[in-house]
Amino acid sequence: PAVLVIALFTTLIWVWLEPGAAVANTVAVLIVSCPCALALATPVALTVSASAFVQKGILPLRMDAIEALARADVVAFDKTGTLTQGRHRVVAVTCVGTIDETRARRLAAALELHSEHPIARAFDAEVPPGLQVAARCNHPGEGISAEIEAEGWRLGRPAFAVPPDTMSEQVHKRIAGLERRGYTVVVLANDTGPQALFALADPPRPGIAGMLTRLRALGVTVIGILSGDNQATVDRLAAGFDVDAALGRMRPEAKMAWVRAQQAAGRRLLMVGDGINDAATLSAANVSVSFAHATDLAQGSSDFLLLGEDIGALAAARGYAARTRSIILQNLVWAAGYNLCAVPVAAAGLIPPWAAAIGMSLSSLIVVANSLRLRPPAEQRQTARGTGFSDREQPA
Ligand code: ADP
Ligand code: MG
Repeated sequence: PAVLVIALFTTLIWVWLEPGAAVANTVAVLIVSCPCALALATPVALTVSASAFVQKGILPLRMDAIEALARADVVAFDKTGTLTQGRHRVVAVTCVGTIDETRARRLAAALELHSEHPIARAFDAEVPPGLQVAARCNHPGEGISAEIEAEGWRLGRPAFAVPPDTMSEQVHKRIAGLERRGYTVVVLANDTGPQALFALADPPRPGIAGMLTRLRALGVTVIGILSGDNQATVDRLAAGFDVDAALGRMRPEAKMAWVRAQQAAGRRLLMVGDGINDAATLSAANVSVSFAHATDLAQGSSDFLLLGEDIGALAAARGYAARTRSIILQNLVWAAGYNLCAVPVAAAGLIPPWAAAIGMSLSSLIVVANSLRLRPPAEQRQTARGTGFSDREQPA
C-alpha cells in the first residue's frame, strides 16, 4: 500500500510539474520498489544452508528453528544415550533373593523385550518361548513392569522396582557401592522384594569436551546435564567436563521444570535428548536436537536430527546456524535498504524505467550471491556426493 500511495503521489506531482515525465517516473517507482530481493532474502539462504547442515551431519526438520539454534544461550543434555553411547553392558549381576542369575537375566530380557530404552539392549538375550508375559508396561524414566507367569515383576531404578522404605539396609548399601563406582544399577524385583541387581556400564561418547568448549566459544553461557539416572553416576560423567549443572534422578516432570525455569529467566534453551522421557522437554525447549537412533517420540518432538554418532556435529551446527542467521540479516538489511533509497530517487525522476529494471534484478542477484556464500567449500560438496551422503540421508 505504501508503494502504491507513493506511486500515486509521484504521478500527481509530476502531472503538475512536467506532465510528459509523469508516466515514466511512476513506472520507475513501481519497478524499483518490486520487493523480489526482500522476498528472497530468507528462503534462498535457508535453502542453501539446508544441504550444508546435512553435510555437517545434522538434518534440519524445521527450517525456522535455525534462528533459534543460533540464538540459544542455554544447552541442556540428557545423559543416557545422548552424552553416553547408550550401549549398556551388564558388568555384574548380584542375586539378592531366591532366583539365580540365569533366571534373573531371562526375566529381565522378557521385561525389556519391546522397550525402546537403551538399557533394554543390555538384556538382548533370547527369551525362552515358554515364558508367559502379560500387561507389560513402560514407565518413562523409571523402568518396566509386567506379569510373568502370573507373578508381578518390575525392572528399573531402585526406587521404582522396590518401595524405598521396604529395601533392606544390606541391599541399599550394595546399590550405593555400585553407583559410587559409576554404574547404573537396575533392580529386578517381584512382590516379595528385590531379586537381582544389575550393574550396567555405558561409555561416554567421544568428543564431548571439545564440543562443550566450542559451544562456550559460540556464546552458550549455561550447560546442564539432566538425567533420570542416579546422582553418583551423573557426577562421575560430569566430572570430566565443563558443565554448570549436573542433575540426577530427574523425572520427566523435573526436567520440564528446569527447562521452564531457564525460560522464565529470559534464556533461550537448546535441549538435546533421545528418549521417550525427553519428548516433553524437547517440545518445550526453544530448539531441540535428537538422534537418528532416538525413539520416534523424541524425533517427532525435535527440530534437528543428528545423523551420525558424532556429537561434535552439534557445535558445528550451532556455528553454522549463526552464520546462516547473519547472512539472512545482511540480505534483509540490503534488500530493505535498497528499496528505501531507490524509491525516493525514482520518485524524484532520477531513474529511468530501464535502469530501475536493472537495479531491481541486480538487488535480487546480490541477495542470491550473498546466500551462496553459505555453501560449503567445493571439496566438501564432492565428498558429500559420494557414499556418505546417501547413507546418512537414510534416517530422514
Ligand atoms: P536419562 O535421563 O539419563 O536418559 P532415563 O530417564 O531414561 O535416563 O532413565 C532413568 C533411569 O530409569 C535409568 O537409569 C534406569 O535406572 C531406569 N529405567 C528407565 N527405563 C528403563 C528400562 N527400560 N529398563 C530398566 N531401567 C529403566
Ligand atoms: Mg536418554
